[in-house]
Amino acid sequence: MKRLLNACELEIDLFCRGMRVSPLVDLGTRASRTRAGLGSGLEIAIPTGSWLKPEIWMNVPTAERHAQVSPYVLQGGPESFHVVDERDDQRYPIRIPSRPRWYDRLTSRDIPMSRVGVLQGTYLGIYINPVCDFWKQDLNCRFCTTGCNVGSNEAAEKTIEDVLETCWAAKQESGISFIHLNGGFQGGHGLEFAEPFIRAIKEEVGLLVGVQLAPEREFWRYDRLIQLGVDHFSFCVELLDADWFARVCPGKARTLGQSLFFKAMEHCAARMPRGAVSGEIIAGIEPIENTIEGIDRIVAAGAFPTVCIFRPTIGSAMEDAPFPQYEEMRTVMAAMYDACRRHRMRIGVAPNIEVSLVVNPDDAALLAPRTLDFYRYELWRRAIRVAAKPMFAARQQARPRRVSVAPPPDCGGGMVA
Ligand code: SF4
Repeated sequence: MKRLLNACELEIDLFCRGMRVSPLVDLGTRASRTRAGLGSGLEIAIPTGSWLKPEIWMNVPTAERHAQVSPYVLQGGPESFHVVDERDDQRYPIRIPSRPRWYDRLTSRDIPMSRVGVLQGTYLGIYINPVCDFWKQDLNCRFCTTGCNVGSNEAAEKTIEDVLETCWAAKQESGISFIHLNGGFQGGHGLEFAEPFIRAIKEEVGLLVGVQLAPEREFWRYDRLIQLGVDHFSFCVELLDADWFARVCPGKARTLGQSLFFKAMEHCAARMPRGAVSGEIIAGIEPIENTIEGIDRIVAAGAFPTVCIFRPTIGSAMEDAPFPQYEEMRTVMAAMYDACRRHRMRIGVAPNIEVSLVVNPDDAALLAPRTLDFYRYELWRRAIRVAAKPMFAARQQARPRRVSVAPPPDCGGGMVA
């Protein structure tokens, strides 16, 4: 009989294989917490039974082709649920979070709030910009479905008021502490576009704010947003091998180049508290040796790695690509945690941020060998988390107007080559 997987191993296998949901399962108000595309699956929380963290949040693929033949099937309901692995009849209890009631509320422009932003784990994700420029030039990343979703499954345009009202609802009713603003490639103007949103959220709502956009060459724009109070930048380098990068991310390869991602990471990491910058990479497309090398480069740049297990999302150019293999993905996630431990990365320190689209670095603590340094690192992380509480509480206070920032340089000062 196959051994029972721990919560992180189950998370990895579910990301790889997806899950079937029987039409007999009554999800009640729990369904549709999610967003189209990468987050189109079912949000679940897996209890760990460990002192390391109580639950692991994840978005299980359910719509993709591989999920239709998965050995995992959701059973139970309407109150308690479990995932059954039909290969060995192991049963894993899970929790399915409720659909937030604010999803059905309208902004003052009559836009349903679920078309403005959705929860992805315990934080709010909003795509603020117009459709990524790469989609207009047929240079979009081949795993991406943003160009199909923006304007259909979510509002094409979100005003600052739409975003503020949605942030308020999510903060008051779902208790979020963090909003993640993303927006793809905007011809070098993404940070500029994001600035008024960030300013308004910081001044009027008071949340930790993360920004994920294609890297820009005018680095002073990052400094400006840091002055405005941005708490987190993430950079999606996606793939390390140059050929895979060019093939899967043609827009990024031709327009930006891989090195810009690492330079931007280094720039921001040198100016922000440790643990405030991340580099995102996808595992399951290129050989895992490349992925692990990518993790090491991200950590060497002063950022922490977030590793997304490749999902052959319906509607993407890669929807028929093979799904990743569990053993390989387990190796990658163990390497991710190991890199964080060796470099004393401050992972899992910010309050109430569980990301459902990736294996969080602190989820992967469940995979690590129990060495003396493992316990040292875990105790250190807990001490840092306690010490950082007042700072994070202060950064979640609304800062009534006006946050003043330095004016932009006259002639592009601070640009990189
Ligand atoms: S940069 Fe790539 S992944 Fe991001 S929105 Fe554009 S096409 Fe999609």
